[in-house]
Parts: sequence; C-alpha cells; structure tokens
Amino acid sequence: SNQLPFGDPSLPTLVVLGAGWGSTSFLASLDTENYNVVVVSPRNYFLFTPLLPSCTVGTLELRSLMLPMRFITSRKRRAVKFVEADVTDVDPVSRTVTFQDNSELVGTVSKALVKYDFLVMGVGAENATFGIKGVKEHGLFLKEIWDAKRIRQKLMDCLETASFPGQPTEEVDRLLHMVVVGGGPTGVEYAAELRDFIVEDLRKWFPDVVNRVKITLVEALPHVLAAFDKSLVDYTERHFRQENIEVRLNTMVREVREKEIVVAEKVRRFVTETGEDGKEKVVEKDVLETGTVPYGMLVWAAGNATRAVTQSLISKLPKEKQNQRRGLVVDEHLAVEGAERIYAMGDCTATKYAPTAQVASQQGKYLASLFSDRGRKIRQLASAEGKNIQHACDEVEAKEGEKTFGYSHLGSLAYIGTDQAIADLPGGVRVAGAATYLFWRSVYLSNLFTLRNKMLVSFDWVKKTLFGRDIARE
Ligand code: FAD
Ligand code: NAD
Repeated sequence: SNQLPFGDPSLPTLVVLGAGWGSTSFLASLDTENYNVVVVSPRNYFLFTPLLPSCTVGTLELRSLMLPMRFITSRKRRAVKFVEADVTDVDPVSRTVTFQDNSELVGTVSKALVKYDFLVMGVGAENATFGIKGVKEHGLFLKEIWDAKRIRQKLMDCLETASFPGQPTEEVDRLLHMVVVGGGPTGVEYAAELRDFIVEDLRKWFPDVVNRVKITLVEALPHVLAAFDKSLVDYTERHFRQENIEVRLNTMVREVREKEIVVAEKVRRFVTETGEDGKEKVVEKDVLETGTVPYGMLVWAAGNATRAVTQSLISKLPKEKQNQRRGLVVDEHLAVEGAERIYAMGDCTATKYAPTAQVASQQGKYLASLFSDRGRKIRQLASAEGKNIQHACDEVEAKEGEKTFGYSHLGSLAYIGTDQAIADLPGGVRVAGAATYLFWRSVYLSNLFTLRNKMLVSFDWVKKTLFGRDIARE
C-alpha cells in the first residue's frame, strides 16, 4: 500500500493523531528536533471549543475560534508533516496508522499508511446518542464548527417559516419550540446563548412571533450541571426559570421523531398497590410518565461516546484490556495499557478525570515534556553509544525515573446567559453573577492561543454590543 515516505531514517517517527486540545498543546510544547513528526487529523485547524456555543447565535464568528494547524507546525524547529485525513486504522502489532482522505475533493491517491515508532492519540470523542432512535436523523449536535453553523441556519429557518403568512398558531408554536437535550455545561451554555439572542435581537427583528419562542432544557437527572457545586446548580436553575427557560428535570428523551420527542418523566405519585396481606393501600412512589413534546429545533448535548478509531484499537488490545467502553486506559505516563509505544490523552481516554479541555491540554503538555526528553536521550543513545534506533526507543520506554502525569484543576466556569456566569474554583470558592461573567470572558480571552484569535474575539464582542447579532440566513 501507499506508505508515507517521510523524514530522516536515523530519527524515530512520532505520529500524532488529532488537532484538538490535547494534540495542539502537545505540538506547541514539543521539541521536534529529534523526531520525524507526522500529524494526521481530518480537521486542519484547532477549535477553541469553550466559546463555540457563542457561534450558534452569532455572538462570535466561527473563524475567530479557529487556528490552522499549519500555523502551529510551521513554527517548529524541525519540519512537521501535517496530513488532512481520517485515521481509519491503528495496528499496534505492525505499528502502522492507515488514513484516508475523506474530503469532498480527492486526488489520484486517497489512502496511505505511516509506520510509527511512537504514537500519540488525541482523537477526542464523538457525540453520545445511546442508540436512541432518531437522534442522528433529526437532532443537531454542538461539537464542531459545522454543528454551530447548522444550528444557526436551522434557528433562522424556524423563525422565517414561523413568520410565513397564514402559518397556523399551533405550527408556529411547534416551529418556535427550541429543545435542548442534556443539562451538562454544553446544553446549559447553548440554552443561555439562545435566550440572549431572542431577548437582545430577535425581539426587534421578529416582533410578530418572538413572544411565542420557547426554550426547554431536558435533563434525565434530578439536576443540571452534575459536575458543579450544588449552590451553583441551584443558582443556574433559578436563573433559567426567571429567564423563561423551562428546565425539565428527571426527564429522559426516549425517541426523537421528525417533529416531536418522546419523553419519560420520573414523577412522584400516589398509587394503589396490593400489599402482602392482600389488602389494597395507597403508597407514594416514583413512576415514569411518558408523553410527546413537539419541537422546531432540537439540540442534542447528551455527552461523549468513543470514536470508531478508538474502539477499533481497543478491540486489538489483549482481552483483559478490552473491558473499558469509555476509552483507552492509560497508565500514569499516559501510555496505553496493553499496547507498546502508544500514548493517549484527552477525551479518547478513560481516566478518573472529566473529559475537558483543561485535562487534555495539561496531558498534551506533559507528554510533550516526556517526549522532548526522550528524543534527546534517543539521539544520545544512537549517536554517542551507536545503538540501533529501535533499541534506543525501547530503552527510553522503560520509564524509570520519568515524571508521572499530575493534574492541577484550575476550576470550572460556565456562561448562563444575561451577562452572568458561574465559577466553581479551587479552595471551595464559588461565585456567580455579572462580575463572574467578566472573569469568564477574561479567562477565555487569555486562553486563546494567538493574538490574532484574541483580537478577533474581542472585535466580535464589541461588534455585537454596537450592532447586535446578524440574522441573515446563509
Ligand atoms: P478534541 O479537542 O475533540 O480533538 C480531537 C481531534 O481529533 C480533532 O481535531 C478531530 O478532528 C480529530 N479526529 C477525529 N477523528 C479522527 C480520526 N479518525 N483520526 C484522526 N483524528 C481524528 N472543556 C473545558 O475544559 N472547558 C470548557 O469551557 C469547555 N467547553 C466546551 C464547549 C463545547 C461546546 C464542547 C463541545 C466541549 C467543551 N469542552 C470544554 C470540552 C473540550 O472541548 C474537550 O474536552 C476537548 O476538546 C478534548 O480535547 P481532545 O484533544 O481530547 O479532543
Ligand atoms: P455531559 O456529559 O456533561 O452532560 C450530558 C447530560 O445529558 C447529562 O447530564 C445527562 O444526564 C444528560 N442526558 C444524557 N442522555 C439524556 C437523555 N436521553 N435525555 C435527557 N438527558 C440526557 O456532556 P456535555 O455537556 O456535552 O459536556 C461534555 C464534557 O465537556 C464534560 O466533561 C464537560 O465538563 C465539558 N464541557 C465543559 C464546559 C465548561 O466547562 N464550561 C462546557 C462544555 C463542555
């Protein structure tokens, strides 16, 4: 097959998969001097996900959150090869990665293979649907640039169609019912952005129908934001109710149809039961009540699931290492258990940490430091001691004396709308409100990778304040 000819044969080949938080932070810190580095990802840019909900309503422009991978790779001292492709297979025995060009335009060659000496997996996760019927067909996700674009288009479509002359009231109400499934941070932040858009902009542009727009957040658990402190959860639920966002807790979506969802809600009811003595008595207990809810747009934010490429690698590991469905199991050096020379970080792993950007970027930085040191040792072993490159790689893999990964939690933040945010910070500091929103803004602004992105995001915020959000439908 078509094998990627690359680099200096006297150096080990380090293959990096993905262009997300883990891989970008890894590449930004890696000393590439002692490796042939190949990056393979279907997306040729890094995406700053924490601000993505703002793109669904036009508070921010999509390109303000994107950073081309070639911008990162071109700054490295030794050339790094970037390939825009989907990785379809990782073979831990032959140590090869197979990838395919899945873009609309493909050339004469669209499939290739690269042999690695070390592999770093940062392929992230995909949206969980739990096999629920109709989610993929009718729901919209919020993970990638194209998802935010679709949500924006669908929202404007719902509004324009609802405004069509003669549209019956019942249909207007259905079209303008925006349902968000999942009360995790993604669902909460999206509902918040949507509410801002309706109140701050749509009131002006759609005066006839705007009062019929309704937002419902559906969550299967008794509360939203499971990872946040209870005081902030209560604050958010109260705030949403004040802002007319209906929060339906204890409600699980069972099926998604074209124009309605099927829900099962856990409710406390008095029911008549026959006791052991054969007598009937009235008891209070939880029962599931099912029903349907019509909707115009449905955003599905129900968490993460393992990608096919990760599942396929897990299936090739020894049997006893295959029982983890959440992702790759790694040791304290982030080496994949049951494989040799494969490392993993971020959302494609199953660890005690939450699948967050914060964890993925710290893991990327840690691995960069590990591999920078190893690269120097390999060169030393190969040049000064004349060792074969494979022996040198095996020798550094022994991990003795190498620092292990340690996570330092900087806190969790979420935007909840109306220029308010919540912050759950280390040391039990929990704050919410308008000042927290300014803190939220400054944290994300300072975390953007480049000055260009910082400026674009700042301009977008100013533009929105001066002119409002754009309602043109692409
Ligand atoms: P990702 O960043 O998802 O990157 C995965 C990369 O792998 C992508 O480049 C993808 O194109 C590539 N890839 C996919 N398939 C393949 C394949 N077959 N072969 C090769 N490459 C592949 N976390 C926080 O800490 N704070 C926040 O405020 C926050 N907000 C968020 C808001 C939203 C809307 C979302 C969706 C997530 C948010 N997160 C936040 C979570 C955070 O984005 C993830 O935890 C983080 O992106 C994980 O990083 P990663 O590198 O593992 O994966
Ligand atoms: P999540 O897993 O945090 O939340 C998903 C929610 O959907 C859960 O509360 C779950 O109970 C609910 N759910 C699942 N199936 C359901 C169904 N059928 N019906 C009703 N409810 C259902 O997912 P997320 O919000 O996408 O977040 C993913 C990861 O990204 C998390 O680790 C999160 O911390 C991180 N993230 C962080 C931020 C932030 O810090 N501001 C923002 C977005 C995402």
